Amino acid sequence: MDEGGVWKLLTQTDLLSIVAGEAPNLDVTAEPLHMPQLLAPYPGGTIFGIGLNYRDTITDMGFPVPETPYLFPKLSSSIIGPNAPIVLDEEITQEADWEGELAVIIGSRARNVHAERALDYVFGYTAANDISARDVQRSDPQWVRGKGLDTFCPLGPIIITSDEMPDPQQVRIRTWVNGDLVQDGNTADMLFGVKELIAYLSRQFTLRPGDIILSGTPSGCGGFMKPPKFLHPGDRTTVEVQGIGSLINPVAAAVPVM
Ligand code: MG
Repeated sequence: MDEGGVWKLLTQTDLLSIVAGEAPNLDVTAEPLHMPQLLAPYPGGTIFGIGLNYRDTITDMGFPVPETPYLFPKLSSSIIGPNAPIVLDEEITQEADWEGELAVIIGSRARNVHAERALDYVFGYTAANDISARDVQRSDPQWVRGKGLDTFCPLGPIIITSDEMPDPQQVRIRTWVNGDLVQDGNTADMLFGVKELIAYLSRQFTLRPGDIILSGTPSGCGGFMKPPKFLHPGDRTTVEVQGIGSLINPVAAAVPVM
């Protein structure tokens, strides 16, 4: 829209249709929104998490360098939007940690895609906070619970389309907790870049419009500090991805189960 700002579409176009290539009709059926509450920019699809994908994080965590991308699932039920609370249930975890990340949104079906063409399949990018329960990651044989608890996947605040980020390997990512800068990295430090991740994933699975790749987090997670630091009710996390903006979420305590 020429006027800028945020507009509400009055046609029945949904986000997944737009990601899959259907152009929204913005001509006469949109109205401006004032003070909107933004929801998570989640088109609907599978969420692939990538662990240990920044060289400085691998050093932090003391793990061997992976020879192939380290994959885990992130559950769609864990997604929340900007300003929504990350809810901590201390009976389940006392070691919730932050992970600021560049999230890649797939725009078209991809299977056995070569890395050189892989960015053609990207619709756009948003910011993510891959909240991780370190104690649960240690206690469980896999990461579904440690990564997939309710509210553990803040996304947003907006999607930028791929033409607005021609090189996803030159993007600064910073995370603050209560105003303290805890992560300051760059996607140039990724072990497997966005192209390689799409090529690898599409060799294993069919990627579909709306699927999201959480591409890994740079150094500075609290669980690997000395001494370790974790999130607590009353905290506030901010993930800023260059060119996208700031994803801000308060941290709250779960209501006790009676
Ligand atoms: Mg992560």
